[in-house]
Amino acid sequence: MSGAPAVPLSAPALGDLERRYLLEAFDSGWISGTGPFVRLFEERLASRAERAHAVSVNSGTAALEAVLQALGVAAGDEVIVPALTFAAPAAAVLNLRASPVLCDIDPVAWTLDPVAAGKLVTPRTRAVIAVDLLGHPADFDALADLGVPVIEDAAQAHGAAYRGRPAGTHGVASVFSFHANKAVSTGEGGCVVTDDGELARRVRLIANHAMTPDRPYRHDMPGRNLRMTNLTAAIGAAQVERWDELVSARNAVAAQYTELLAGCAARPRPAAPWADPSCWLFAVTSRDRDAVVAHMADEGIDARAIWPPLSELPLYAGRAPIPCPVAAEVSATTLWLPTWAHMPRHDIRRVAGALRSALAAGA
Ligand SMILES: *Cc1c(COP(=O)(O)O)cnc(C)c1O
Repeated sequence: MSGAPAVPLSAPALGDLERRYLLEAFDSGWISGTGPFVRLFEERLASRAERAHAVSVNSGTAALEAVLQALGVAAGDEVIVPALTFAAPAAAVLNLRASPVLCDIDPVAWTLDPVAAGKLVTPRTRAVIAVDLLGHPADFDALADLGVPVIEDAAQAHGAAYRGRPAGTHGVASVFSFHANKAVSTGEGGCVVTDDGELARRVRLIANHAMTPDRPYRHDMPGRNLRMTNLTAAIGAAQVERWDELVSARNAVAAQYTELLAGCAARPRPAAPWADPSCWLFAVTSRDRDAVVAHMADEGIDARAIWPPLSELPLYAGRAPIPCPVAAEVSATTLWLPTWAHMPRHDIRRVAGALRSALAAGA
């Protein structure tokens, strides 16, 4: 097969509102990261995420790095991260010259196993990054008992809830990504949300050249420029206005997949009783995962195998003090089906049909 797949993995949901705000920002001539749409975007994010403060940055990874640095994470420190995740949380720790400590996941929630995490806490542990994997929140009450600051990575979890409390409200701070394939998107972008005013102030300082706010050009540490542009924030302000619609449109796709795949040998991912997940990419498990993905690729469908466990990448080898068998099992059997807001019904049917025929072909 060549060229773009007939059914892509993901597609953004941009419309008239995004176009209108973007043109407004463009026409205003204010394109840098200090413009009015940045402030509007942050106000809307804070209120949406039910947090006192939101600081926008230019990626979810930048948000993770800024919040880790703001918490004082530095060389010699350890940060516990799940063994199965997109690599950004572990990379953020390495970029601060600290040590990511890989921890296994729970077999139902697929998020950090609090019991395993408890065994990994040492006097050098400075934080835990709990990823709400594929829109399923982590077990934050159990993680709070570890006595270590928890950072919630809600990059994949816009609209999810843990025991009735929305993703983005857990731990000392939460991070969102607005990458193009995330539920709420600005192309590239991210933010830190927190109720801790001092932490928010430090994140903003780090992201803004470490320039003392009331004393221009005074820098007390080497800062970075992680700011989001006013143009990007204009798209973001529109997307946050559409938050509920975007989340429910994705969940509606998941509901259709669930219905179409009833009784199928490929099982939807499980969910813990305390979770109210939202769908990022619809995930199913199959013993024959690789053959299924190959069969679907032949039919022009961009279904994909989930990430390898980080502990299997040479970069992170030796960083799991305790084996992570659940992460390995989930990683070996899970694939994502194409998922985006307002994905047409005929595409959903086509994907479900291809999955069934892949399994019937003995894939
Ligand atoms: C997408 C993602 C990130 C990184 O976000 P970027 O905006 O792509 O830098 C971090 N963590 C998780 C879990 C993600 O899925």
